[in-house]
Amino acid sequence: MALMTPEQFEQSLSSLKPRIFMNGKRVENILENRNTRTVVEANKASYEWALDPRYSHIMTCRSPLIDDVVNRYTHISASTEDLVKKAEAGTFTAEMLGTCIYRCVGYDAFHSLAATCWEMDRDLGTGYYPRFLNYLKMVQTRDLSVAGALTEPRGKRNQKTLDWPDPYLSLKIVDKNQDGIIVRGAKINISGAFASHEMVVLPQAAHFEGEEDYAVAFAVPTDAKGITYVCQYTPYSAERDAADDLEELGNPRFGQRETSLVIFDNVFVPWDRVFHCGEYKYSVKFVTRFAKTHRMTCGGTCKVGFMNQIIGASRLIQEYKGLEKAAHINDELMEMVVLRETGRACGMAAANRGAEEPVGSGVYLPDELMGNVAKLNICNAFWRVMALAGDIGGGLLVTMPSLKELNNPEVKDYVKEFYSFGSTEPTENIMKVHKLLQNWTAGQHGVATWHGAGPVMAQKIMLQRVVNYDHEKDLVKQTLNINQ
Ligand SMILES: Cc1cc2nc3c(=O)[nH]c(=O)nc-3n(C[C@H](O)[C@H](O)[C@H](O)COP(=O)(O)OP(=O)(O)OC[C@H]3O[C@@H](n4cnc5c(N)ncnc54)[C@H](O)[C@@H]3O)c2cc1C
Repeated sequence: MALMTPEQFEQSLSSLKPRIFMNGKRVENILENRNTRTVVEANKASYEWALDPRYSHIMTCRSPLIDDVVNRYTHISASTEDLVKKAEAGTFTAEMLGTCIYRCVGYDAFHSLAATCWEMDRDLGTGYYPRFLNYLKMVQTRDLSVAGALTEPRGKRNQKTLDWPDPYLSLKIVDKNQDGIIVRGAKINISGAFASHEMVVLPQAAHFEGEEDYAVAFAVPTDAKGITYVCQYTPYSAERDAADDLEELGNPRFGQRETSLVIFDNVFVPWDRVFHCGEYKYSVKFVTRFAKTHRMTCGGTCKVGFMNQIIGASRLIQEYKGLEKAAHINDELMEMVVLRETGRACGMAAANRGAEEPVGSGVYLPDELMGNVAKLNICNAFWRVMALAGDIGGGLLVTMPSLKELNNPEVKDYVKEFYSFGSTEPTENIMKVHKLLQNWTAGQHGVATWHGAGPVMAQKIMLQRVVNYDHEKDLVKQTLNINQ
């Protein structure tokens, strides 16, 4: 069996040497740094669950590519059933982690790469598809974690790429030789790449004649020469660095969510890892196929899992406070459930209405309309769920003292008494649940949900392309006996 144990996963990371900076300092060991460790733990959990008999049916599947069991996060959907299982795995992983599924961008990028490499080979006679399949076989056989990188710093948005004074604000090929290509530029906001083995890189935007050097997709080991990570640093990062008790942090093991700027300073990529090189008309296909897959993931699956955590904590606090019969709280909880199920329904519809794309490729992608509706819907629904949880949680969500006061002889009895809500639940548990909900409602998740997989305008633009209103117009004419 190809699957690694969690311990083997951790061991495999220790042999990589990515160049990482956080808070102005070099991170020498991602296994030991408290913030990078959260990503290690999250990816490690995906190895645990793949081997756990309770979850292996969700987290694994049989890959026809290597005729073996693989982690689902390395499998390309070959049917709508696969897409449904993909969606279910997204919800499961998100609700178990309570933070970002760092492997999902790579997983979604695989779908785009397979479909578009196949199409380029068919149309242009290139040899990308077998090359990509060889790469994927290696990933599956070695059970590797793969991050995905599309988003770029970009120059002034009202100027064309070729007019930017700095040509490297989009990642660009700077040289080619018989062995491979050399790329320069950067990707921003990249989730968890430093704790993955590999990173697949896709274009972020459509490209046009003259922009051939920007039309590039490839895979690199995360510690390839020339790659540097500059990690985000937030109040949550500082708190984790300073905390002498990780239990204070709301999500002790998996943390908030971690990204970094990934710099490619003349990185060499051998040809067998290059999947798009100059065929600028196809860059847009990479982007849109990734987007339709990732919007189902972000809109209709992982936020459903996140909402389960928020709903669970809100319900516990309702019970601690003895508000089970408060009509408006029950109403708020029910509204959360409806928003969660609307999100799930959109994700499931995107999966169930998915189709082979391009026909003949064997690659199944979610339905574009429903994937975009899923993401657009969740952008607003998630803020609303956060607001409802904030109402139920009360001011204590942001004012709770340290758990250490429970051991402070000067105040421990007061703290136990006054944060008990008079309930039989140990005060420590009540405080921890409030801290978990603080992590959701007063952290990065609102903005992250809005922008991850693209802000709302990106979905609206896609939807305007997909919807043509012909059916609706015909209905009205038919009803009114209007003949053309
Ligand atoms: C937590 C998190 C994790 C992420 N993980 C990954 C990852 O793993 N891999 C990855 O590739 N990306 C990742 N992303 C990036 C994500 O896809 C982008 O944040 C998203 O596409 C928005 O891009 P931006 O952040 O540059 O915002 P911007 O593009 O700057 O958007 C800000 C505003 O400007 C508007 N705008 C932008 N350009 C134009 C224009 N040309 N015309 C008119 N309006 C415009 C937008 O509509 C929006 O209203 C992640 C983002 C977050 C927040």
